[in-house]
Amino acid sequence: MLNKLSLCAIASVLLWSCSEPKEEVGVHTFVKDDHTQSNADSIDITHLNLDVKVNFDDRYIQGCATWDIDNKYNVSHLKLDGYKLTVDSILVDGNKVDFAWGATVEHLGEQLQIPIEENSKLVAIYYKSDPSAQAMQWMTPQQTLSKKHPFLYTQSEAIYARSWIPVPDGPGIRFTYNARVEVPKDLIALMSATNPQQKNDSGIYHFEMDVPIPAYLMALGVGDLEFKAIDDRTGVYADPMFLEKAHNEFAEVGDMVKIAEEMYGPYRWGRYDILVLPSGFPLGGMENPKLTFATPTIISGDRSLVNLIAHELAHNWSGNLVTNATWNDFWLNEGFTVYFERRLTEQMTDKSYADMLWELGYQDLEHTVQEMQEEDNMKDSHLKIELKGREPDEGLTDIAYEKGALFLKLIENTVGREKMDAFLTQYFNEHAFKTITTEEFIAYLRENLIEGDKELEEKINIDAWVYGPGIPDNAPRADMERFERVNAEREKFLNGTAPKDLTTADWTTHEWLHFLRKLPKPLAYDKMKALDDAYDFSISNNSEIADLWYIMAVAADYKPAYRVMENFLVNVGRRKFLTPLYSEMMETGKEEMAKLIYERARPNYHPLAQRTLDELILK
Ligand SMILES: [Zn+2]
Repeated sequence: MLNKLSLCAIASVLLWSCSEPKEEVGVHTFVKDDHTQSNADSIDITHLNLDVKVNFDDRYIQGCATWDIDNKYNVSHLKLDGYKLTVDSILVDGNKVDFAWGATVEHLGEQLQIPIEENSKLVAIYYKSDPSAQAMQWMTPQQTLSKKHPFLYTQSEAIYARSWIPVPDGPGIRFTYNARVEVPKDLIALMSATNPQQKNDSGIYHFEMDVPIPAYLMALGVGDLEFKAIDDRTGVYADPMFLEKAHNEFAEVGDMVKIAEEMYGPYRWGRYDILVLPSGFPLGGMENPKLTFATPTIISGDRSLVNLIAHELAHNWSGNLVTNATWNDFWLNEGFTVYFERRLTEQMTDKSYADMLWELGYQDLEHTVQEMQEEDNMKDSHLKIELKGREPDEGLTDIAYEKGALFLKLIENTVGREKMDAFLTQYFNEHAFKTITTEEFIAYLRENLIEGDKELEEKINIDAWVYGPGIPDNAPRADMERFERVNAEREKFLNGTAPKDLTTADWTTHEWLHFLRKLPKPLAYDKMKALDDAYDFSISNNSEIADLWYIMAVAADYKPAYRVMENFLVNVGRRKFLTPLYSEMMETGKEEMAKLIYERARPNYHPLAQRTLDELILK
C-alpha cells in the first residue's frame, strides 16, 4: 500500500470512530495521482484474487475479480478504475449490492462505485473486458511465427490495467495477487507471477504474486509457448520455432542477474524469466515482475541488442521495487533504469562499449529537446512533468530516460563511483516495495549524499535538471574514442573511399548506428547504393540498423529498399521503429506511401501503437 500516513489524518480518524460513513478520507498519502479515480487513499485494498477465462473467438476475458479490503476509515464506497468493462454483478461478503458507474472521463475511463460497510472484507466483481480493451492485443494465428495458434498479451503500463481488470490503477497503490486463468487446451498462460513451465491438459493455470505490486505490472500472455531454462533461476518462453534462437541470444542473462545483484543488492523476485512476444509488441520490453515481456526485434543473432534485457532486468530495482508515486515522476522509474542498464552493460563488456550507448542516448536526447523547442513545449523537457488531463504515455520520451540517466551520471562523476553505488544500494534497500515522489527523492539525495556540501550542491544544480528545460550546461559527455574512429571512416567514405576499403570489421551495432546517423540526409543515391551493395543494409537482420536504413532510404528515395521496408513495417509493431519511419514518409511528401503501407500493417499493431500512428498518418 501507500507509503505515507499523515499525522493529522490519523488524529482525525480517531475522532471519527462510531460516525457515519464518509465519502472521502484520503489518509494514506499527500500525493495526488491525477490518473486514477480509485479511492485507494481512503481504504486498504490489499489483495486481488483473479479468476478468468480467455475467449479468443469473441476477444474478451470473463470472470471474477475479488478484492480483499479493510475499510478501517469507514468510507461509504469502494471506488475502482475501469475502462469499457461490463460488470454483471458485485457481491460484498456474499451479498449482492447495487453498484454504479461514474461518467467516462477522457483518458481515465470510468469509476466503478461499490457500496460497502465498515466491516466489509471481500468484494467480488463479475465482469467481462471489451474486445477493444487498450491493454490487450489479440493476434490471429497468421500474426504469430508458427502461424498455428492465436496469441494474446497485455500491456498495462501506464494506465491500461483498468481495461482488463477492475482495479485501483495508480503506481502508488500496491497489492498482492493470485489468479486462475483458463485458456484453450493447446495454449499456455503466463503472468507477472510464479509461472508454469509446461502446458497441461486442462488449460487451467494458477499464479501467485506474493509481494505487493502496482496495477501497471499486472500482465498476462497466452499462446503456444515453450520454455527453456538458462540457469536455475532464469529462462526463456517463446514460440517453439523461435525458442532455440531466443535461448541462444539470452544465454548470458543468468550471469547478468548475478552481476546486477553484486552492484545494487539482492534480486527480490524469485525467478527471472523472459517471454518473447510476437513482433507486433509495441515496446522493446516490459518489466513485468518475474517475467519480462520482450520484442523479438532484439534477437539479432549476435547478442548485440541484449542491453534491452539489461534495462528490463534493472527495472526490478528501479520501478518494480522502488516505484514512481505518480506518472509525473516517471523519470524516477526510467532515468534510474537507463543509468543502471548502462552500468550493468559496462560491467558485462567494458567502458568503451558503455560509452557508445551513452553517446547514442545523448544524441537521442538532443533530438528530442530540439523537437520540443520547435513545438514550443519546453515544459515537457523538465524531469518532473505535469501530465494532468493528458495520457501518461505523453511522458514516455527521452527526457525521462536519457535526461534522467544523465542526471545520475553527473552525480556519479561528481561524487565518485564508489559513493554513488553505496548511495544507490541504500536507496533501493530503504525504499523497497515502496513509492517515491521526485521531491522525496531530492530530499533523500540531499540528506544522504550531498549532506550540506554547498560546493557539491552547486556543481550538481538539482533545480536545473529537475525543474529546468533542455540539457543543462553541466551535462557530462561520454568518452568518444570508438566513435572518433567511426567518424574518421565516415569522412573517408564521403570523400570517395569505397565501402570495402573502410576499416569496419570489428564494429558492433552501435558503431554502425553512429556511422549511419551522422551521414548527410538525404544521402546521394550512388552512395546509398554503394553502402547497400557492400553491407546489405536493406536486408539487415538487425532491426535497429534496418530501421535507420529505411529512414535514410525514404529520405533519399532509394527504391531498392522499399519492398523489404514494407515487409518490416507489416511485421514489426515496435513503436520506436514505426513512428520515426512513418514520420519520415509524412515529412518527405510520401503520405500516400505511408497510408498504403499503414492500411496493410495496422491490424498487426497493438492498440497503443495504432493510437500513436492514427494520429500521425490518418489525422
Ligand atoms: Zn524502462
